[in-house]
Amino acid sequence: MTTRGLCEFCNGKIEQRVIQADFHFKGQVIYIDHVPAWVCAKCGEQYFDAPVYKRLEEIAKRRRLIHKTICFPLAEYESVPA
Ligand SMILES: [Zn+2]
Repeated sequence: MTTRGLCEFCNGKIEQRVIQADFHFKGQVIYIDHVPAWVCAKCGEQYFDAPVYKRLEEIAKRRRLIHKTICFPLAEYESVPA
């Protein structure tokens, strides 16, 4: 559907990837894993195709109903000093 050319911000090359997206939704950032997206190789700007964006919105809306906190620190068990 969409042919991506160059990054709108830095003219970098845009590549299709599966990423962990930080999706900005109503003042919150929601992290969604395994999202097909277009990523600028130079500045890292993320672009989403319209159907993907719509799906992310749906996920974000649902997440807000389930979790009040969607961002949490992740520590490695082994690396915690005794
Ligand atoms: Zn860029």
